[in-house]
Amino acid sequence: MDYKKLADLLFPEVDKDFNYYINKYKKRNLPAGAEVTRIAPSPTGFLHVGTIYGALADYFTAKNSNGVFYMRLEDTDSKREVANAGEIAYDMLCYYDVCPMEGYRGNKAQIGDYGDYIQSKRMNIYKAFAKHLVSIGRAFPCFCSKSETKQDIIDRRNEQLENSDDIEEKDVCRNLTYEQIESNIKAGKPFAIRLLSLGNPDKTFEFTDLIKGKRQIRENNKDIVLLKSNGIPPYSLAHLVDDTLMGTTIVIRGEEWYPSLAAHLELFDAFGLPRLKYAHTPVICKNDENGGKRKLSKRKDPEADARYFITKGYPKTSLIEYLINLLNSDFELWRANNPDLPYTEFKFSLSKIGSNNPMFDFNKLNDISKTVISKMTAKEVYNGVLTWAKEFSPKFAKFLEENRNYCEKVFNIDRETPKPRKDIYCWSMVEEYYSYMFGLVTSTELEKQDEANYKEFILAYGKNFKLPKTKEEWFNGVKQVASTLGYATDNKAYKENPTAFKGNVAKACEFIRLALTGRKNSPDLYEIMTILGNDEINKRFKI
Ligand code: GLU
Repeated sequence: MDYKKLADLLFPEVDKDFNYYINKYKKRNLPAGAEVTRIAPSPTGFLHVGTIYGALADYFTAKNSNGVFYMRLEDTDSKREVANAGEIAYDMLCYYDVCPMEGYRGNKAQIGDYGDYIQSKRMNIYKAFAKHLVSIGRAFPCFCSKSETKQDIIDRRNEQLENSDDIEEKDVCRNLTYEQIESNIKAGKPFAIRLLSLGNPDKTFEFTDLIKGKRQIRENNKDIVLLKSNGIPPYSLAHLVDDTLMGTTIVIRGEEWYPSLAAHLELFDAFGLPRLKYAHTPVICKNDENGGKRKLSKRKDPEADARYFITKGYPKTSLIEYLINLLNSDFELWRANNPDLPYTEFKFSLSKIGSNNPMFDFNKLNDISKTVISKMTAKEVYNGVLTWAKEFSPKFAKFLEENRNYCEKVFNIDRETPKPRKDIYCWSMVEEYYSYMFGLVTSTELEKQDEANYKEFILAYGKNFKLPKTKEEWFNGVKQVASTLGYATDNKAYKENPTAFKGNVAKACEFIRLALTGRKNSPDLYEIMTILGNDEINKRFKI
């Protein structure tokens, strides 16, 4: 068959050759070893937390090699597109300090010499590439009525893989003659373009994924769709065209793309283009309802939405450090050894990413966040809480603004010391956590069996109470009252014969704490008392 003639028959409107585009975009002028990475979300809803996780891998890989990290908007699926999702994605990436250096920038003008960075504006380029493959006999028109979407392909492949791992998937239309094709075109039949696969799945080849390492991969034998009948390319062709022309050096993408890798590589070979480096990141999972593992789901898990962490008031550094920890598990040790360095100093590496899917663990996130917040000054905490409250709790924001000095004192308890208290992990918990400092004590953790001793102690201790000037004097005062009432002031004596006493000094302090805060645990009691002041303390001692 005269493939050139066929290409012109199928694409009479495409006047630019694929070589035109290959030559149009110049090689990037970057230092040796510089890597070019990209984040390429589809604007189909909120930004998935996994996209920030992937963007961190892109960001570090580019930054550590003096390369470029850019953003492309993969908006070829207009049916699933959600208004403003692209802008939100860009803004969210910037909020989490993985702002792309080049490319698509939401409401702002794109920057960079390799645009357009929005796929829907690149249709002519994809067509030129598809036409080229037809012209060299490596792609053909398919007139089968149901043109497949990317999702169709994934679903069909998954289904077929379940039945057999040796799928023969040569499309029926690959054997049409020129005359048959011509008559279909004349009849106005819509067509897709498919790759004419030459692969043999009995054969394998070696490929090194930068995360998975060296693997044997079966050759592709699927005539994958390159252009749908509406002229729009699915991911396979679009990513090849864009990553090639935009000068990507490493495609860092989710593991869900790994099964399509053989087809993608065959496509590069068919074009005679150099294959790119790939790194397939494991996908963030959680325990499912039946004790198994499943991917974080946009439908089921609120924490799949990156904005969730903003509504809860997690400082952004907490989420960032948590995600870095999921990517490179030695981050935790590095952080312990370098408590004061910014996380950007950490030596991130793709090769340190494990192959198991990491589990999203709130306890771990909260621990990391407690450490992050414990290092903040009282002013930083105040500003963090206020910024959060202005958006999510206006009444509390008003209180914070009207009582700024007082609140800063509260936030300074057990803070700005060599061993600060690690307790708060998100701003939305602060109002409740310090409720006893912001209003009256509304609940108590006092236990039933302690009630009589509690009353007796607080009546005695709270009588004409005046807070001593130093912590030492204060503590001596507690000891004195406790000892008069039959509490042990010597811990050794108490340990040897606990039943001889009503309790020890710790118990006495617990009663004071309960009276003032309603809780058994709180930050430093003397500091709390200093901030509350004598009038408020005496009010709370009235029982
Ligand atoms: N648009 C694709 C996605 O959102 C991008 C995959 C890739 O990074 O190559 O899954």
